[in-house]
Amino acid sequence: MPSVSKAQIQAQDDAVYQAIIGEEKRQKEGLELIASENYVSPAILEALGSVFTNKYSEGYPGKRYYGGQTFTDQVEALAIERAKKIFGADHVNVQPLSGAPANVAAYFAVLEPGDTVLGMDLSHGGHLTHGHPVTYIAKLYNFIRYKTTAEGLIDYEEIERMAREHKPKLILVGYSAYSREIDYERIKKIADEVGALTMADIAHIAGLIAAGEMNNPVPIFDLVTTTTHKTLRGPRGGMIMCKAHLAKAVDKSVFPGFQGGPHENNIAAKAIAFGEVMTDDYKKYAQQIRKNAKVMEEELRNLGFKLMFGGTDNHLLLIDVTSKGATGKEAEWALDEAGITVNKNMIPDDPRSPMDPSGIRIGTPAMTTRGMKEDEMRQVSKWINEAILGKDDPTTLERIKNEVKEMCERFPVPGIE
Ligand SMILES: *Cc1c(COP(=O)(O)O)cnc(C)c1O
Repeated sequence: MPSVSKAQIQAQDDAVYQAIIGEEKRQKEGLELIASENYVSPAILEALGSVFTNKYSEGYPGKRYYGGQTFTDQVEALAIERAKKIFGADHVNVQPLSGAPANVAAYFAVLEPGDTVLGMDLSHGGHLTHGHPVTYIAKLYNFIRYKTTAEGLIDYEEIERMAREHKPKLILVGYSAYSREIDYERIKKIADEVGALTMADIAHIAGLIAAGEMNNPVPIFDLVTTTTHKTLRGPRGGMIMCKAHLAKAVDKSVFPGFQGGPHENNIAAKAIAFGEVMTDDYKKYAQQIRKNAKVMEEELRNLGFKLMFGGTDNHLLLIDVTSKGATGKEAEWALDEAGITVNKNMIPDDPRSPMDPSGIRIGTPAMTTRGMKEDEMRQVSKWINEAILGKDDPTTLERIKNEVKEMCERFPVPGIE
């Protein structure tokens, strides 16, 4: 695979060059299981480094505040058209700088301070931007939190009961650590009954939805926000899709309501990513992400791990590691020592703390981009078990690290020689 040139950086700034080279080596030699990460194509890396980074283009295609917009208009219109086609959206805004700003801009588009929002509890899979008390957004709106059932599934009856009781202005679905399918039709029915708007945050699963591997909320919901850098495999960034009746409010909310100039180099990279998503290769990729997750589910269950939500329908698994004599923090550390990157994560109603929770979250998108398939997933599952059980044994962790490195050499990372 071609690598992206760093010759100018090397000649000009050795300190930064060394950091980039170090990161390339880390990405190449280690096994990336963080469910929200992925590897972009060399074309996307090039677009991010393009001269579009020089340009101010406040406003939208055809309606800008500065001159010289022929090509920024072209590239932004292209990104919008492609995204509309992929998801079947009435309207798309590709300017949000990332997932969190996309969510904030979406709230600003439809809510007044003090309005009530019904969203999922963070420990049950929700995101910080869905009203966690540590965020400023939680000071602005009245967030009410629903939870999953004891079996770990979304409790639609509870959502219905809470919606009737609290009469929210907005009902929010879409999660960071939830591994099951979502019934958008059912949520929409509840929302219609109480007169609430609907918003889905598909940051994690957008790529699976784009490829037809999971239910698509875009034709059903009022607002759909996403990142572009997780399963969608584009540059770091955000996007808002909405029904026609909210188009003006969303655009005004993103700019000038919340952000300044858009990052057109990122938007060019988003356009390229959407072009990739429309190919058959990407469809196969999305299918393989799910197959790989399913194999890890089976394998880890057979190894005695407790899987939250009873398993997975998407690209991720939330695993309670305490039955293996480790905390989430210890498991994350041991796996890091063994060359496997995961993140510690709260499990539903976790009795432990966020900095040392009971679980870890793993995902298959990055490994799948490298071309790893079912056989590798079985091997990785065994390593996870061995590393967690061997957390106090440096020899075991060192041995796994060498085996991981050996396997990774067979699966190149796009853009890294
Ligand atoms: C990742 C994520 C976000 C935030 O995206 P950033 O790009 O990190 O700001 C928002 N919502 C959900 C559900 C996410 O998983």
